Formats: sequence, structure tokens, C-alpha cells
Amino acid sequence: MNTSRRTAKSFAPGRIEIIGNHTDYNQGFVLSCALPQGVEAFVEQIESDNIFLNFTSDLAPEEFSFSAFTEPQATPGAWTNYPLGVIKYLREEGLEIPPCRIQFTSNLPAGAGLSSSAAIEIATATALLALSGTNLPPMDLARLCRRAENEFVGVNCGLLDQATSICGKAGHLLHLDFRSETYELYPLPPGHLFLVIPSGMKHSLVGGEYNERRTQCYEAARVLNVRALRDATFSALEAAADQMPEMVFRRARHIIGENQRVAECVAALQNNDMVAFGQAMTNSHQSSRLYFENSTEELDNLFEIAVSTPGVLGARLTGGGFGGAVVALAKASKASDAAKTIATRYLQRTGIHTTATPYVPADGARLLPTH
Ligand code: ADP
Ligand code: MG
Repeated sequence: MNTSRRTAKSFAPGRIEIIGNHTDYNQGFVLSCALPQGVEAFVEQIESDNIFLNFTSDLAPEEFSFSAFTEPQATPGAWTNYPLGVIKYLREEGLEIPPCRIQFTSNLPAGAGLSSSAAIEIATATALLALSGTNLPPMDLARLCRRAENEFVGVNCGLLDQATSICGKAGHLLHLDFRSETYELYPLPPGHLFLVIPSGMKHSLVGGEYNERRTQCYEAARVLNVRALRDATFSALEAAADQMPEMVFRRARHIIGENQRVAECVAALQNNDMVAFGQAMTNSHQSSRLYFENSTEELDNLFEIAVSTPGVLGARLTGGGFGGAVVALAKASKASDAAKTIATRYLQRTGIHTTATPYVPADGARLLPTH
């Protein structure tokens, strides 16, 4: 092998959280899928002392470089933290990363709740592992990239984004178990797709609100004397209602309900009952709105418009909430008309322009030919 100019190219997709809201850090369940869109990373070993990072993107106009013989340092708010964190923890696993140039491109919107951050991490790791001819088991790779986001970038996300970006399969939904950190695949019955519709409001408060919800969930688990809310039942919660603040009770009610709704959706997939699947999504949104209070006026408007549009079987806010997007299950034959109707009605009601984009589940991260 010519080691002087080794190259590798990878692709890692974004993802949609289909159902299972805030369940990952409660050791519960999520249904998700990978998208056809994502991030490409092309890495080329070079004669230099440095590692260079480039992103063909309006968000990252300048080249970034650092000495390949030093530990990478984080720059607050910079996109480079995602690949740098991955480089740091790959090295801790014993991977030698030579001086190289990594060129990123993306066709995934950033900060839209489709997990462009995990796509950057997984694309980086997949390309660098290939460059050195090494492999990591999928969930180990997901955990390493989550660690980069948690500890290097400083975002306290669960494993959903990274696991889905790696393990997604075309035409399938992933059923993830966040206690065992394992997954199963279920085919999406033909004739259905998902519409993702941004509310136009970024999740600006997400940091503080997200951590507050996390703390409330852990508080409920402590009062219920269970390892995590995954182990709690509605009857145990009712019995302990007077031992916790009413707000904590409602947070727990949402998480227990979400885990049940994920199970209902798995049964619906097995029974080819997509009406029941859509109903569980709609119930999930109502629970978010009433009990978890992570919806917004815009998300509620979008939700109401989506579920009353012909061809839509159910809808809910997706991701952390407090802004971001709604995901709707639609009949493929009616999706194009539904997408136009939803955007028009949302503009009429709120004055906000949006686009409903159709997605079908796609494959997870992979290597691409370099020429
Ligand atoms: P999400 O993962 O939902 O897209 P995050 O806030 O977790 O949202 O990650 C978005 C961040 O990822 C951006 O702020 C930026 O740092 C980085 N990023 C994503 N896509 C791009 C891109 N095309 N160009 C430069 N940076 C990007
Ligand atoms: Mg992200």
C-alpha cells in the first residue's frame, strides 16, 4: 500500500426522532430513522505537521489547523469542536491519526433538529478509522462520538443521534433500547413516509430547559425508588403522587407514557396498522404539550394544522422541543399535496414561512469511493 497519500471518504446521515421523547436519558425506548441527507468527510494524509479541517459551508468559511502532535483544544461555539472531540477520543482508543486534511460537505440543515452534529462526528470517525484500516463495533463508535459531544463540545445529548446515524437501514425504523444500548430494525410498511416541518423557531432555550427536565425526571425516579423512569409504572406514579411536586409528577407521566407509545408503535409496525402508529404520535404531542411542557405556540399550531390535513396519519414535535420541528406520518400518495397544504396554512395562521420535506428511512454511515 502507498502510505504517503492514503485517503478515505465517508458519509454519515442525519436522523429523525419518530417517537420516544426525552426517553433516552431515562434508559427508555425510541423509534428513529436515518435520512438520505447527511455529512461527507474526505480525509487525505499529507506531508505536514498539521491536521487541517475545512467545511464547504457558509457557516465555516475559514480553514482550521492545529499541530498533529498536540492535543486538540475546544473553541467555544465552533463547528470544529465536533471533529476535534472525535479525534481526541479516537486517539485515546489508540488510533494514530497522521497529519491530514479533512474536507467536509453537508446537505443537511444545521440546527434543525435533524442532528447535523452527530453526522459530523460519525463522518469524521468513519473516515479516520478507514484511513488507518481500523474498525470499531457500531455502538462503541456511537458512544465515542457521544462522548465527544458531551465532554468536548459540552452538549449533554443522549445516544440517539449517533446510534441512528450509524445503524440506520433503508426502509426501516430503529427501535433503540437505551438501557442495553442495543437496537432492532422494523420495516416501515410501504406507501408511507415522514414529513419534517420546521416551526421556524430555533430551540433557543434548549440548554437550560433540557437540563431542568432531566433533573425533574431523575427526581421522579428517586421518589419512585427505581433505577430510571423506564422502570416506573402509572400505578406506582399515582400511588406516590403526594410525595413529589405536581410538576415532577407530570414530567414522569410523560416519560412513562412515551415508553408505552413506543411499544404501541412497534406493535403497529408488526400489525401493519399505520393508523394506530399515527395516533400514538399524536398522543405523544399532546403529552408533550400538557405534561412535559416542551412544546411552543408555533409547534402546537403546526401540529394542529398537520393532523387536520388529508393524508396525514399523525404528528408530533420531534427532538428536544422548545422550538424546532414537527414530524408527521403521511401516506406517500398524498404527501406532496399535504406538504403544500401544511406550509400554506402555517403561513396564513402565523406569518411564518416553512417547507414540509418528505423523508424515507435511509442507510446509516458508510464509506464512499474516493474517486
Ligand atoms: P443539530 O444537530 O440538530 O443540527 P446542533 O446544534 O446539535 O443541531 O448542531 C449544529 C452545529 O453543527 C452547528 O452550530 C455547527 O457548529 C455544526 N454544523 C452543522 N452543519 C454544519 C455545516 N454545514 N457547516 C458548518 N457547521 C455545521
Ligand atoms: Mg445535534
